[in-house]
Amino acid sequence: MNTVRTTAALRALDAAHHLHPFTNARELNAQGVRIIESARGVYLTDSDGQKILDGMSGLWCSTLGYGRREILDAVTKQMEVLPFYNTFFKTSHPPVIQLSKRLAEVTPSQFNHFMFTGSGSESNDTIFRLVRYYWDLVGQPDKTVFISRHNSYHGSTVAAASLGGLSAMHKQGGLPIPGIVHAPQPAWWAEGGDMSPDSFGLHVARQTLDMIDEIGADKVAAMFAEPIQGAGGVIIPPATYWPELSKGLKERDILLISDEVICGFGRTGHWFGCELMNTQPDFMTLAKGITSGYIPLGAVAVSDRIASALLAHGDEFAHGFTYSGHPAACAAALATLDIMQSEDVVRRVHDDIGPYLQEKWRSLAEHPMIGEATMEGLIGSFQFCADKQARTTFPASANIGLAARDFSFDNGLVMRAVGDRMVIAPPFVLSRGEVDELISKASQTIDQTYQHAR
Ligand code: PLP
Repeated sequence: MNTVRTTAALRALDAAHHLHPFTNARELNAQGVRIIESARGVYLTDSDGQKILDGMSGLWCSTLGYGRREILDAVTKQMEVLPFYNTFFKTSHPPVIQLSKRLAEVTPSQFNHFMFTGSGSESNDTIFRLVRYYWDLVGQPDKTVFISRHNSYHGSTVAAASLGGLSAMHKQGGLPIPGIVHAPQPAWWAEGGDMSPDSFGLHVARQTLDMIDEIGADKVAAMFAEPIQGAGGVIIPPATYWPELSKGLKERDILLISDEVICGFGRTGHWFGCELMNTQPDFMTLAKGITSGYIPLGAVAVSDRIASALLAHGDEFAHGFTYSGHPAACAAALATLDIMQSEDVVRRVHDDIGPYLQEKWRSLAEHPMIGEATMEGLIGSFQFCADKQARTTFPASANIGLAARDFSFDNGLVMRAVGDRMVIAPPFVLSRGEVDELISKASQTIDQTYQHAR
């Protein structure tokens, strides 16, 4: 094998042949890509030997940290026995059967059926089709419109990108597709004006319900939403938002899809974010933490209400992927669930390491440049501000968030920038000492960004 090892040589090859997702190739190649070579526990090591604390669990997914022998062994064993078989033509295999059963045990009680995909995006596109198919089957074919939210992210396939509320994505490729209406997001710091967080939460929920009433509830099929908006900047809604919205959706018989791609599998200190928010969704979108990111896998949790209609009246649902229920991916998911249960990981996030990090993280808001610092479980964000009292931001051209992200990387901590909001979602296995290191590096980054902005 012809291996190239030096950072400069790898960068040159990357620039010559690799097109990166969500990246401006010219900017990247001018700056030079950072090459991550290995990882262990909660640390990454780059090609220059720098050790970096991974505050983002890869891309919100490496929940159990790196190098878990149990997952590697389970995948290797499965690869030896049956590396691939499909689940299309009246066939199945042990790992996908076992995983379906285990998911029925850990998800809220209304979920007892699961469909598998390769990613969160594919799962959301699958739900998009299933929802319309369901309403058709139960004799309400006019219920076709989907509600989702501005600034939300639900993936990059055509329906998922359309459901997302990011204008940069809509500008490319003629999106959104028809039949999707975007409602406001419950982002109090940025959009709450003079209202208290609780009044604002109610206000946004009612605005959403008013939009539905204007379209006509008999035409609205479902609403897609994350319990906590992740890629939109970790927007934790005011406490009033979900109770008002979920009650109104039920009254209007609008299905709720809880996109749990980030919030699922323990991230919020509950198995699923809908349990934290006390909503009763009809579908859940699953991916990322389902395998702790070791192998790509997505799933759709289908509630009894929907499944019973499909089972009673459905024909063949003409949808599926080659890798739906890939045996090695299912083996990785089963090993992930084993670790989560044997190490009581969700309780650890809820009662122990979550609160320990939350308290320190929230105190970052004492800095004059930090408008708010919030966290649930192990998902949080802080907001850089120009004026704390007036809740104003710097002009976008100042690129405060990107500067902070680069300082943070150089300090040995991965934080992601969403505009001027810095987000973290560290692996659940981080120790108290690693929390202290994370906070010290985040503080150092804030001080450097403060100096940079003056
Ligand atoms: N939904 C949410 C909430 C996400 O955060 C993401 C990805 O970050 C997706 C869907 C898409 O998942 P994937 O990248 O696996 O397609």
